[in-house]
Amino acid sequence: MTVGHNYSMTINGEAVSSTSSIDVINPATEEVFAQAPECSREQLDAAVRAAHRAFAGWSATPYEQRQALVHALGQAILDDLDTLSTLLTREQGKPLFEAKIEITSLGRLLQAQSTITLPVDVAEDGPDRIVETHHVPIGVVAAIVPWNFPMLLSGFKIGPALLTGNTMVLKPSPFTPLTALKLGELTRSILPPGVLNVISGADELGPWLTNHPLIDKISFTGSTGTGQKVMESAAASLKRLTLELGGNDAAIVLPDVDVEKVADKLFWSAFGNNGQICIATKRMYIHKDIYEPLKQALTAYAARIKVGDGAQKGTRIGPINNRPQYDRVRGLIEDSRKNGYAFLTGGEEHQGPGYFIPVTLIDNPPEDSRIVAEEQFGPVLPLLRYDTVDEVIKRANDCEYGLAGSVWSSDEDKALAVARRLKTGTVFINHDQYLSPFAAFGGQRKSGLGVEGGLPGLLEYTYTQTLVRRKRRAGTVE
Ligand code: NAD
Repeated sequence: MTVGHNYSMTINGEAVSSTSSIDVINPATEEVFAQAPECSREQLDAAVRAAHRAFAGWSATPYEQRQALVHALGQAILDDLDTLSTLLTREQGKPLFEAKIEITSLGRLLQAQSTITLPVDVAEDGPDRIVETHHVPIGVVAAIVPWNFPMLLSGFKIGPALLTGNTMVLKPSPFTPLTALKLGELTRSILPPGVLNVISGADELGPWLTNHPLIDKISFTGSTGTGQKVMESAAASLKRLTLELGGNDAAIVLPDVDVEKVADKLFWSAFGNNGQICIATKRMYIHKDIYEPLKQALTAYAARIKVGDGAQKGTRIGPINNRPQYDRVRGLIEDSRKNGYAFLTGGEEHQGPGYFIPVTLIDNPPEDSRIVAEEQFGPVLPLLRYDTVDEVIKRANDCEYGLAGSVWSSDEDKALAVARRLKTGTVFINHDQYLSPFAAFGGQRKSGLGVEGGLPGLLEYTYTQTLVRRKRRAGTVE
């Protein structure tokens, strides 16, 4: 069913439609169920200019007032939970309960961020001078997000950028534009015009945005390949940059775990959001002493999980979000089959509409196989047997990515010792994936540049401005 033009962009606080549109597909049915505006180059320019004009007033607005408005935006999102979650499930595919978690997390994230304040760092306060560093806003931020958590990942950019006095143009993925456009609608009655503009469009919109001369900073979340292109385009005018990119996270399971107790947690560390999480477990290293029982427990657990339309009750895992990603994940499955790796469960091709891939576990494929070496970003997990801690740490770290990882053990000290040797931005210890609004999150090596989250995440949206003042005599500033 085609719903038509119910969606508009938000430019300078106003609803803006377009002459052409992009189809939005429900990945569970492959039906086009809505159209989103296709932003023209002129409209993009209008959005960036609106943000540029709004910057003077917004950056001069007292910090407390900006905190209140970001908090109010969080509340408006929480108040609109049902509409936003239903729409998110329809365009993204995730089960409704997960969509509700994402929308709720976004509302609470904005509210949590709005409690963080910017420090003034006093570097020197002696008899002759006082030297202090302030954190001042950068200007217009281009925020570009992917389709796996279109709302939550937008929140990691919107809150810090706006709190610190920047204005923004937000561009969601062409696969999931609608919830972001609805978010734009909510901002119209809360934020001053031009402070947060939301635009949607096709593939060329991203490069248009990153190349625009009035963009001062780009905050990008997506694949490493695209991140590298974004970095190139930022170089021309030395735009500030935060990149949150891909990962190939290892879970290391030590021999002392209680297999029955950890199996479901390990399962969801890999298969939450259908494996489409940057910090999902993408390689699971299991000690040889427990390899067989844990392998069996994971396979048995997988058999109990309902994969289906996210809008249907009881669905735990939805479809892959879009056709190109579906083809990529299927390609990795076919590569594993061609190479003769053993499948513990899954791997079959889905008959019928929807980008469905069954939960697939592959039994100890070689370390240099594609399914181990590449980021799959889907419901296919290699289980890998290891002998010693030194060996598994080396295998886990021998990776171009460095986003996150996890360690599982009954002995927290042992787990901590392993965690400290992992070369990743985050390590979860007997814990599911959790991003604190108050902690830095970022990737090492090809997983990114800079951080989001907490005060460090706010500071990414600021320049430092150091004020050096002479004191006429002790205690008095000249
Ligand atoms: P993608 O790189 O294909 O697209 C991300 C966004 O960039 C989309 O909005 C897209 O339209 C836009 N884009 C595409 N080409 C562009 C260009 N040349 N210039 C500017 N923008 C452009 O990524 P995806 O497939 O949407 O998302 C999956 C990837 O995102 C995975 O690799 C995953 O690990 C990564 N990811 C990382 C994090 C993190 O925080 N590190 C979080 C979520 C997802």
